[in-house]
Amino acid sequence: MQALAAKNAQAAAGPPRQCAVPARTGSRCSRRPAQPARKAQPIFASADKVSPLKAQAVDDIAVYTEVSTQSVADAQVKLDKPRVVVLGSGWASACFFKALPKDIKEKYEVVMVSPRNYFLYTPLLPAVAVGTMEERSIVEPVRNLVLGKGDYYEAVCKAIDPVRKELVACFPKDAGLDEACFKIAYDILIIGVGSVNNTFGVKGVAEYCQFFKSIEDANTLRKRISECFERAALPYTPEEERKKLLSFVICGGGPTGVEVAAEIHDFVFNDLKAHYPELLKDVRIRVIELMDYVLSTYDRKIGEFTHKQFERAGIELVLNTRVASVRDGYVSVVPKSGEEFEIPFGSCVWATGIAMNPLIKELQQQFPEQTHFRSALTDEFLRVKGSDGSIWAFGDASTIEQPRALQRADELFEQADTNKDGLVGLKELQALLTEASKEFSHLEEHARFLEAKNKRASHLEEHARFLEAKNKRFGGLLQRALAGNSNGAESPMQTVEETDELTKEQFKALLEKIDSGLRALPATAQVAKQQGEYLAEVLKRGSFDQQAKVLQPNEKQAPFKYNHKGSLAYVGGDQAVMDIPKVGPIFGTGAGIMWKGYETFAQISLRNQLLVISDWVRTKLFGRDISRV
Ligand SMILES: Cc1cc2nc3c(=O)[nH]c(=O)nc-3n(C[C@H](O)[C@H](O)[C@H](O)COP(=O)(O)OP(=O)(O)OC[C@H]3O[C@@H](n4cnc5c(N)ncnc54)[C@H](O)[C@@H]3O)c2cc1C
Repeated sequence: MQALAAKNAQAAAGPPRQCAVPARTGSRCSRRPAQPARKAQPIFASADKVSPLKAQAVDDIAVYTEVSTQSVADAQVKLDKPRVVVLGSGWASACFFKALPKDIKEKYEVVMVSPRNYFLYTPLLPAVAVGTMEERSIVEPVRNLVLGKGDYYEAVCKAIDPVRKELVACFPKDAGLDEACFKIAYDILIIGVGSVNNTFGVKGVAEYCQFFKSIEDANTLRKRISECFERAALPYTPEEERKKLLSFVICGGGPTGVEVAAEIHDFVFNDLKAHYPELLKDVRIRVIELMDYVLSTYDRKIGEFTHKQFERAGIELVLNTRVASVRDGYVSVVPKSGEEFEIPFGSCVWATGIAMNPLIKELQQQFPEQTHFRSALTDEFLRVKGSDGSIWAFGDASTIEQPRALQRADELFEQADTNKDGLVGLKELQALLTEASKEFSHLEEHARFLEAKNKRASHLEEHARFLEAKNKRFGGLLQRALAGNSNGAESPMQTVEETDELTKEQFKALLEKIDSGLRALPATAQVAKQQGEYLAEVLKRGSFDQQAKVLQPNEKQAPFKYNHKGSLAYVGGDQAVMDIPKVGPIFGTGAGIMWKGYETFAQISLRNQLLVISDWVRTKLFGRDISRV
């Protein structure tokens, strides 16, 4: 390996370097002296274990600088401690580092690799787009998070070689300097690269809409709003053009779309109003949503409240409507019942959904077990399926594969049939579901339902109550999971009568129905944060198996369990909506105060908390800054 790396290095680099810094120091050399650019050698080339696809992917890194080549060779030098490489600096990775104890460096060498050298508090991104918050208030340098615990390299991971346990990462071209690629070996790899925007194949979205995921997106929108108003305010702007410039279209009525619409409305009617009074009559803010109400993953009452709040404010909801295509300044939409029509816009924000990070796509090529359409499949300890336990994943980039009870149906039937008559009665079924729910947690609710039935309780009510409570805990997910029926009318247990005795085939059919209700966790910061903290715990309490070269979780380590604490969204006019487990939906000004309090104290550092407080106060006292800097 060393020899191969050195050979590649020589081939790619040519004469010896002027400055060469080992990769693990994280330092980079100054620009190299002018030389003809050399074609990169595939870093993993000629390795018989590496698939051609792998080599192909690495070969895509066009120019391989001397610095990176030197780093490639040096990256192979091993420390006496296992090296943990964490990809990404988002919610999952930042919370992972925050939760690590300082003495972790005595056990492991921990390195974060990410092209973004700051953590971004995404829930307040819509507030940045209109100047309620300043961008620096909601970002935290990752170097503050890794300080004393590990190291950080600003680089985007381009390829992973799970056989050799090494990856290729490059200092990003868009940082203004040359791209510098290097190879880094890992013992444990943790992938937290998040997701990318999803256009759902709609024509024109990438060209003419603005995405809303990064701090750059928020700044672009802030500038765009200002441009639209200034242009519309020019003396000779024709009326039609003025109306088009002042039309703000938001595609997607989920929490992000709703919050962006609410913030734009606050900005226009609180701050721009005084400066452009003659333009207000032409301002239109529209949210296009496929469903018949917005915030469809929340309690229905929340969607209804938001609808009324938006109606009062004059924000238009274009419901039951699909975006067909976008062209310069026009979005073409199709209502469920009706003809396609075009909406002109000055700015169109695309806030509809997420897709798989290309790095995960690349990983899928190497593991046939990886079949999920959006993320890396993991087990319930967050180990990537198909890897030998050396690769872990969390946050938006991962999905926990739900263990399907049906796969063990025969064994479970034998276990349930205690009197060995080839049939399973209600009591036997309940006892089995209770026992098996330790392994298959989704069986728990059905065991409880049967328990209620056995006690001759009003089973429908009990199930409905249980499902409702559970449903709230999961932000409405369970409702959809159980065939869209929250009152239990179509629950598989409904079909089991007290006198029933199930044959093996009927038992299997029942398990199949129960399994079909399984759904993945939502792609939220809340899940990513909990998974980051969980993996920090696994690393802290577990041990590195020197023989197998994998991280072994502590034997008492429980699988990851998501604890839904509630969903919230800002809906404008100092009002918010909240869907809190065991409490239910809350909305209005009181919820607005709680929302502000929560978003302040949930910041990742005290510095951010204080900056966010000062921004709320500044906005209340002086309004938002309308200059375009
Ligand atoms: C506007 C907005 C508002 C939101 N509001 C909420 C909310 O109120 N509540 C909530 O729960 N969720 C919210 N979310 C969702 C939440 O932000 C995501 O679920 C969360 O960020 C996922 O965390 P993550 O760590 O998986 O990924 P991210 O936070 O997206 O981080 C991914 C990281 O990986 C890095 N990266 C990408 N590719 C590579 C690579 N190849 N190599 C190395 N690094 C790479 C990126 O630079 C980034 O640092 C919101 C999202 C948005 C966009």
